Amino acid sequence: MDFKFTAEEEAFRQEVKDWLKANIPPRWFELTTGYWQETDESWKIARAFQKKLGVKGWLAPAYPREYGGADLGHIKRLILAEELTYHNAPVGVETEITVNWVGMALQHFGNEQQKKDYVSRVAKGDIVFCLGYSEPNAGSDLASLQTRATEKGDEYIINGQKIWCSYAHYADYCWLAAVTDPDVPKHRNMSMFVVDMKTPGITVRPLINILGCHSFNEVFFDDVRIPKENLVGEKNNGWFQLAVALDFERSGVQTAAGNQLLLDFLVGYAKSTKRNGRFLSEDPALRNELAEMAIEIEVARMLCYRIAWIYKTGGHSNYESSMAMLFGSELLRRMTDVGMRVLGKYGQLMNGSKWAIGQAEIARSYLASLSIGVGGGTNEIQKNIIAMRGLGLPRK
Ligand SMILES: Cc1cc2nc3c(=O)[nH]c(=O)nc-3n(C[C@H](O)[C@H](O)[C@H](O)COP(=O)(O)OP(=O)(O)OC[C@H]3O[C@@H](n4cnc5c(N)ncnc54)[C@H](O)[C@@H]3O)c2cc1C
Repeated sequence: MDFKFTAEEEAFRQEVKDWLKANIPPRWFELTTGYWQETDESWKIARAFQKKLGVKGWLAPAYPREYGGADLGHIKRLILAEELTYHNAPVGVETEITVNWVGMALQHFGNEQQKKDYVSRVAKGDIVFCLGYSEPNAGSDLASLQTRATEKGDEYIINGQKIWCSYAHYADYCWLAAVTDPDVPKHRNMSMFVVDMKTPGITVRPLINILGCHSFNEVFFDDVRIPKENLVGEKNNGWFQLAVALDFERSGVQTAAGNQLLLDFLVGYAKSTKRNGRFLSEDPALRNELAEMAIEIEVARMLCYRIAWIYKTGGHSNYESSMAMLFGSELLRRMTDVGMRVLGKYGQLMNGSKWAIGQAEIARSYLASLSIGVGGGTNEIQKNIIAMRGLGLPRK
């Protein structure tokens, strides 16, 4: 077992670091835009940056060249994801959704025309997708969704409501799950569609998140007519496609890098800040907590590397993704708890306050961390998946 990157991969990492230092617009850092805190200005900067990455082949580095990628493989994809996250580059959840979840699913299930129409544009950063999964009465139990897609002539007509759709107010397309046959049992009654968000009959309404920002939306579909060719894969096989797309969603390989960034910030703060006459770095309780975080980041990193290795060797990461997602989200919660203790009462101040520490990374991450173990399936659902698919335990 060799845990080292090759010399060529290390050289690639250095190339990425150098490129990021030269290419992230300074204005981005002034905006203090973390996940789920996008504004119109930050969105514009991020989209321009993502297009630049796309031109370089680094937005979707593991996609085949024929669909706009760079065929760099999954280890270099991991390296890129780590460096983009660690350098706080303008790539957020919208990139994950579009490139690593929907784009990957479309490569698996889309026909040649759909791959040309969508996957290539995803790889170049030209389009953004949102996810149309959750409904007011279908979250963890997604198979209970009720949005209908009724076949009529050359079209499907869509009626229903989705909720918690991240970035639907910016997205060009929705990757939508809808019931296509209400007369058959759940899991065999739905299909997946690509829906142009400009289609008449779609209404997007904002939902404000825990950070006070507009990242989620309710999306209403009232007699939305879409061409039949927007059906992806086989009709009524949507549950399987959705499950595969969710595996991609849970396979984020960048979670360790995000936690490492926070830990490095806290270590720097502890070394340079005195409380009650001594440096925080001399406080035995805080030293223990920071050391514990360093160990857990190492565990998270290994879980992420395992996923990259599974994809590199032609496999598909399934319960392994749930493990990494669960551990990564709980780690973020523990990390921000530790952060709050290291920063003391100042840690609660948000950016904009003159007494906030740094750019209030810890306070903002603390709030965001509460939602991280919910999106993509709650941590309880991840445990169910690990029990069933990883340990072979019965469904109930
Ligand atoms: C940051 C964020 C972004 C999101 N983005 C999107 C998006 O872009 N598109 C989209 O469609 N959705 C999105 N969601 C919605 C997300 O997928 C759902 O919130 C999630 O699946 C949970 O569903 P729910 O909110 O209906 O909770 P529920 O399913 O009602 O769950 C409530 C509680 O019951 C527990 N529970 C439910 N069933 C079980 C079970 N079988 N075993 C054990 N415990 C159980 C859950 O763990 C949870 O604690 C997002 C959510 C968040 C927080």
